[in-house]
Amino acid sequence: MVNDELQTYSLTEVFGSNVFNDAAMRERLPKLAYKALKKTIDEGIPLDREIAEIVANAMKDWAIDKGATHYTHWFQPMTGITAEKHDSFISPTPDGKVIMEFSGKELIKGEPDASSFPSGGLRATFEARGYTAWDCTSPAFVKDSTLYIPTVFCSYTGEVLDKKTPLLRSMEAISTQALRILRLLGNTTTKKVITTVGAEQEYFLVDKRLHDQRKDLIYTGRTLFGAMPPKGQEMEDHYYGTLKERVSSFMKELDQELWKLGVSAKTKHNEVAPAQHELAPIFNTANIATDHNQLIMDVLKKVAHRHGFVCLLHEKPFAGLNGSGKHNNWSMSTDDGQNLLDPGRTPHENAQFLIFLCAVIKAVDEYPELLRCAASNAGNDHRLGAHEAPPAIISIYLGEQLTDILEQIENNGGAKSSKQTKRLKIGVTTLPVLPQDATDRNRTSPFAFTGNKFEFRMVPSSASIAGPVFVINTIVAEELRQIADRLEKAKDLNAEIHDVLKEIVKNHKRVIFNGNNYSDDWIEEAKKRGLPNICSTVEATKALIEEKSIHVFENHNVLSRLELHSRYEIFLENYMKTINIEALTMIEMTKRDIIPAVISFITKVADSISSVKSAGVKADTSVQAELLEEVSSLLTDLKKNLTALEKATSDAAHFTGDTYQKACVYRDDVFVRMNELRAVADKLETLTDAKMWPFPTYGELLFNV
Ligand code: ADP
Ligand code: MG
Repeated sequence: MVNDELQTYSLTEVFGSNVFNDAAMRERLPKLAYKALKKTIDEGIPLDREIAEIVANAMKDWAIDKGATHYTHWFQPMTGITAEKHDSFISPTPDGKVIMEFSGKELIKGEPDASSFPSGGLRATFEARGYTAWDCTSPAFVKDSTLYIPTVFCSYTGEVLDKKTPLLRSMEAISTQALRILRLLGNTTTKKVITTVGAEQEYFLVDKRLHDQRKDLIYTGRTLFGAMPPKGQEMEDHYYGTLKERVSSFMKELDQELWKLGVSAKTKHNEVAPAQHELAPIFNTANIATDHNQLIMDVLKKVAHRHGFVCLLHEKPFAGLNGSGKHNNWSMSTDDGQNLLDPGRTPHENAQFLIFLCAVIKAVDEYPELLRCAASNAGNDHRLGAHEAPPAIISIYLGEQLTDILEQIENNGGAKSSKQTKRLKIGVTTLPVLPQDATDRNRTSPFAFTGNKFEFRMVPSSASIAGPVFVINTIVAEELRQIADRLEKAKDLNAEIHDVLKEIVKNHKRVIFNGNNYSDDWIEEAKKRGLPNICSTVEATKALIEEKSIHVFENHNVLSRLELHSRYEIFLENYMKTINIEALTMIEMTKRDIIPAVISFITKVADSISSVKSAGVKADTSVQAELLEEVSSLLTDLKKNLTALEKATSDAAHFTGDTYQKACVYRDDVFVRMNELRAVADKLETLTDAKMWPFPTYGELLFNV
């Protein structure tokens, strides 16, 4: 008991200790400066230059107390990860010494060289200037002796070059539109509507020593070869299984490190595949949740190294086993703490809830291509549509209670009741009676209502969540705008609400599907309903430059036509580069590792035949002969497929069509040849002397932790 109390005490002390959070600001800033900064954070009022000086100085002193010697503008370029350039606080004095300085100007604006970040043609390489600007809505923190200042990143001409700016803009857009609805419903107190996000992060841990023996893991983060071991995930014994000691000690340190950074790591458990795990923080505002997810990915990798692991964030590190995703839990809440997607006990009477719910339904039905695009990358192509992750078809799970209410709205001219929850009796008198939730979970739905939020379950495990979140925010903002436009003009508000809801249900119920999304029937059914089934990243990327998408992003000031075109180019280029690196890695591994190993093995078998024969006794060498024949013939196939992949890779590199056509060449030619090469190599692995195989196998990687 005492021990527990001690631990709780130190945990609360540790939590956020390296964050310049509200408590630190209150302590370090003069009252006036604190108030002014709070106003900027909460209400978006621009920060005065003089106040910025005071804040910078206080922040520097605080950071130095935490051991910081440097500061960095931390930003999120289109690489999907974060970028940082460290500057020390030192400033020389005439007596040959230094003082520690940090000005308001340095806090507010940075000028990193932007020329080597993806811009999708937004600027030529000689136009190197880029700017970072302080985002005070996400708190600064100290990590590795450096003060990290969250910032947005744009080009010299002001075009957005990062993931954070559109996210912040989309948060403003949805707040503006949601407030219009709230005002119509008589709410006069809420000042702002905030989007809340909790991202569950899946990952794999593999032994670093084994990892470092595989070029595919080193260069691409996934295995490009590997036969299935006798055991995979079929026993379902890993999911929620007890944590192995080494993993548990890793997770403990991970939690500690994250807590120091103010990341509220909450749940941790083993996932479905062997060596797969998950971490979920408590939800936060979308902006902070996005920064925190970046920190989680970064800290996962660093702490893994300290424990002799490598953390794989790739969507599909191992063929034949579940891959990793990121479940993006999303809702809207008022600044006075009301969750707008909370149905309450009697949702049928809750007009406010029904309006927000229907806005989401309409948004998802009208912009599935954008959502699909926001969930795509080369890694996720291995998952979406395969039988493990949600399918590539976007649909919404609502559950029994809400579906019933929507049916009532459509058919009976209004909802009169909400199906109520039951109590679960387990049948053992000593056990408590459990209240049953109003709806069950559906683990197969890509966009599931889970009680008081939606869970977008398609997001790639390695990607920034900014993209998916700003897409949801923007399309929901658009629907709220349309609803508010109508309601504001209505003579009879209640009657109009009623009509709006009925219309939405009628026109968009096709997107609601409560059944098994993994079944083949659903693919057929979805086709009949006219729902798109976009099977690859390349195809999904097109959504970014459709006129409909450009309109919705421009109307809400989230991204311009030019910026969307640049993102389109970046997405496709990223896809092609990924496939190209994978192809080159396969070529290298085949040529320099697999073929020499197989030749050694063949030689060994052939030597055995001649040795046995020359021993002069009558012995049967048919086993060796058969093996020799089989392996030699596979080696011929391997070489043939290798040559085909080399040609495909070279042809793709020299292809001269537009970016889209070129990306199709990578998908339809290079990627297909890669799979053909792998099939033969994996077959060879199962025939070759285990001791001679040139890199660790799936069995070793998955069960050696
Ligand atoms: P499950 O695996 O059952 O989906 P988890 O507890 O692993 O549940 O994750 C649920 C996530 O949803 C957590 O990050 C949680 O904080 C988040 N969440 C809960 N309420 C909200 C909300 N209103 N808005 C956004 N995220 C939320
Ligand atoms: Mg979940």
